[in-house]
Amino acid sequence: MINRNVVTRFAPSPTGYMHIGNLRTALYSYLIAKHSDGTFILRIEDTDRERLVEGATDVIIDTLKVTGLRYDEGPGVGGANGPYIQSERKEIYLRYAKELVERGAAYYCFCSKERLESLHEEDGVGGGYDRHCRDLPKEEVEANLKAGIPYVIRQKIPLEGTTTYEDAVFGTISTENKELQDQILMKADGYPTYNFCHVVDDHLMGVTHVVRGSEYLTSTPKYALLYDAFGWQRPVFVHLPLLMGRGEDGTVSKLSKRHGAVSFADLCADGYMPEAIVNYIALLGWCPKNTENEFFTLDELTKAFSLDGINKSPSVFDYEKLLWFNGEYIRKLTPEEFKERALPFISNPPMDKLDRILPLVQPRIGKLSEIDGKIAFFSALPDYDAAELFQNKKNKVTPDVARDMLSGIVSALSGVFEWNNDALYAALTAYAEQSGIKSGAVLFVARAAVSGLSVTPGGATEIMEILGKDETLARLQIAAERLG
Ligand code: GLU
Repeated sequence: MINRNVVTRFAPSPTGYMHIGNLRTALYSYLIAKHSDGTFILRIEDTDRERLVEGATDVIIDTLKVTGLRYDEGPGVGGANGPYIQSERKEIYLRYAKELVERGAAYYCFCSKERLESLHEEDGVGGGYDRHCRDLPKEEVEANLKAGIPYVIRQKIPLEGTTTYEDAVFGTISTENKELQDQILMKADGYPTYNFCHVVDDHLMGVTHVVRGSEYLTSTPKYALLYDAFGWQRPVFVHLPLLMGRGEDGTVSKLSKRHGAVSFADLCADGYMPEAIVNYIALLGWCPKNTENEFFTLDELTKAFSLDGINKSPSVFDYEKLLWFNGEYIRKLTPEEFKERALPFISNPPMDKLDRILPLVQPRIGKLSEIDGKIAFFSALPDYDAAELFQNKKNKVTPDVARDMLSGIVSALSGVFEWNNDALYAALTAYAEQSGIKSGAVLFVARAAVSGLSVTPGGATEIMEILGKDETLARLQIAAERLG
């Protein structure tokens, strides 16, 4: 049992964009800490120098900022256990690796690249190291070090027995030690491997709960052995369920680009709102208790979150569900907030009409990127095929019927001077009644004519009010001409 204050960390490698699975790890890590008033740390794991991607650390920091996952210690914020970027902590790891050698739990390995490569060829599966240097005499090791022969430091895994640890989600995990490799802890380039330095850092930074994806479940015995070899208390391990995607053929596999956007930035660019994404992914692997409610702000999540609500079965990322969530979030925005969020998604915003247009789309979209296509007709009448547009079974409209109606609509509207929705509606329904036509048909023809579309946000008269009298009459005229 751990009696200290809860300390968790998010420890991404800056190797590219922020995958939605990583964001979920960050979120759960944050929630576990904050639920107990604990500390949440951001640590950048950049010791794999070949995989670094420029700018990736900024993406991580920005994402945490935008989503509200404020960290108490980390790059740019500082803290008692910094630095929080592993490449700035190199000396620490070498010191601890040497200590492990002293303790008999690690050893220097001088095998050349060629030798290692030939090993991989022999066993044909690219598998393990043959422990050639595991028991080199002390004198030989010292002579090699003195001669400056390049080396790595490897973990000395016990040859027999089993290693067992408790995972807060997956329960007891036992592995036969003979299944484990003498993995490299310090590389020839002087950098530690992830396998080693994250353990050292988690200990030095006082991390009580290690929260990460379940791909680490099988490596964790090796980490547990490292804690034991140092005589350090093991943290609580919390491995999160896999995140899956459903393919077009219905098959489920690890969530990847072929399922749709998988980076936080791409989802935002596609018009999903950060709060909706956070809310949705909170539920991908965690189940709130005693409530049917699915809507949670970050604060509400913090209150409700508990370790025992995390599932171990894989979760499927459902884009339809996210779209629905996002639409609900859009609906909750005030008109001002909606306008602010919408503007970046509108290519040529008709500023003079925007305050009247946006309320028409706010109730009708799932994501912000749908706005542009839905409102473009206000700025420019789209080109349309009149014979097709004015063929509508439901309202019993044909191009011939529409042509007759249009002249009636124009004359009904010409007499409207208070150009507003109510007056326009009254004029059109009065015309329908006088001519014995269903008002639905009149409104359909009017709406199609002023928008050039069969589906629009808002009804005919709402659109006409926004377009104004001149533009409305001009568009009705164009429709009449196109119908011949
Ligand atoms: N740097 C590792 C990763 O990005 C972190 C895993 C962990 O949280 O321990 O996958």
